[in-house]
This record gives sequence, C-alpha cells and structure tokens, in this order.
Amino acid sequence: MAGRDAGAAGGVVDIDLDALAWNYRRLAREAPGAACGAAVKADAYGLGIAQLAPVLAREGADPFHVATLDEGAELRAVLRDAGYPDRAIYVLNGPGPDAAADFLAHELTPVLNSLADVTWWREAARTRETRLPAVIHLDTGMSRLGLPDDEQQRLAREPERLAGLDLRAWMSHLACADMPEHSENSVHLARFRTAVGRLPAAPRSLANSAGIFLGQAYHFDAVRPGIALYGGNP
Ligand SMILES: *Cc1c(COP(=O)(O)O)cnc(C)c1O
Repeated sequence: MAGRDAGAAGGVVDIDLDALAWNYRRLAREAPGAACGAAVKADAYGLGIAQLAPVLAREGADPFHVATLDEGAELRAVLRDAGYPDRAIYVLNGPGPDAAADFLAHELTPVLNSLADVTWWREAARTRETRLPAVIHLDTGMSRLGLPDDEQQRLAREPERLAGLDLRAWMSHLACADMPEHSENSVHLARFRTAVGRLPAAPRSLANSAGIFLGQAYHFDAVRPGIALYGGNP
C-alpha cells in the first residue's frame, strides 16, 4: 500500500497483486473443469477487498464468497466501481428473515443453511412474485453447518419446497482438507455425492483451497479457494 503513512496505520502490509493474480490462475488451472470462485470473507482474510477483489474479478473469479451481509454490500460497491457489476456474491452466514430487502438491494445471494432458511427465502420470492437466487449448504461432514441429513431427506421428498428459488449451487465444506491423508475427506466426498444424487440437479461445489489439491474427484462444478489465493499453504 504505497503512500500510506506507516506510523498512522500502525504498520504497512505489502500486497503483491501480481502474485495474487498468479495464484488465482494457478488454482483455476488445477481445477480445469470447474468454475473458480474466490473466498474473500473477513476483508479478504484481512488483506483488503477494495484492492484485491478487482484483481480477482479481472482474472475471472465468479462467484465471490463473503461471510456477512455487510461484507457483501461492501464488496458489491467495490465490484461495481471496478467495472464488474455482474459477479455473483454468495453470503455464507444464513441471514435472518428480515434481511431480504438488503440482500435484494445489493444483489446478494444467500447461502441457506437450514430448511427454515429455505422457507423464508422462498417466502421473500413469493411476496415479490419473482424467482430469487439461492445456494443451499448441505452438512455432509462434521462442520455442523448447513442442512443436516434429515432436512436433506425431507427436501429430496418434497422438492416443491424449492419452487420460486433459482438454485445456483449445492455446496458443502470440507473440514479436514488440509490433511490429505485424513480418511474423513473421502467419507465426506461420498456423503456429498449421495446427498446431491437424491436432490434436484444444480451445480455442485465442495472444494476450498486444500480441497482443490485433493484431486479432480473433489472439484465438481465450482471450487472456492480462499487462503491459497493469498499465499497461504493449505
Ligand atoms: C472460507 C471458506 C472457503 C475458503 O477456504 P480456504 O481454506 O481459505 O481456501 C471456502 N468455502 C467456504 C464455505 C468457506 O467458508
């Protein structure tokens, strides 16, 4: 961050934007059959989305993943100003029912983490007489995030619960991907396959940075690197 006063800022972080672009291309090449998104939650892991997100967008990153509605709103403004208004932004924390208007205002796609989330987002679509984009998180590992198995089975039996939703992805998050030898990974992969196999067809996404390096079986339709974009070794 050239020009910033190190004294006032309490220190200066030098971010090599060329290295960021190189890392993105490297990760996208590692999963050639999949769309390559970017996890930029927590202000791009503390490095600053205002600087980093436009570079990732230029390299083709889509969708972007943030944790909260506020992060999503900030990122939407950054991407719009940088000339990438159409990139998808997925908000990982299932927001409460009162947030629908904010999600729509900033064109954010919620990641739905429970059947209750599915129901209220569907209600938001119904009252607006439109279809709304959504991602649904399936708990197929130990993360305790996303729809548990009984809710997945309910959704499989009652697919009409998805009416009014434009389902952009089924996703799950690997808990142990940074331990390649960990048997939990293959168990998780098998559970994810089973889960999406009984649900209506939509793009599938499982791999974070470390998951990308577990091999092609983990790539599905979209990958979601975070730490490896920023030089961390998963
Ligand atoms: C943070 C996060 C990622 C990126 O994980 P890394 O290990 O940093 O690559 C991907 N998916 C989800 C759901 C996340 O929360």
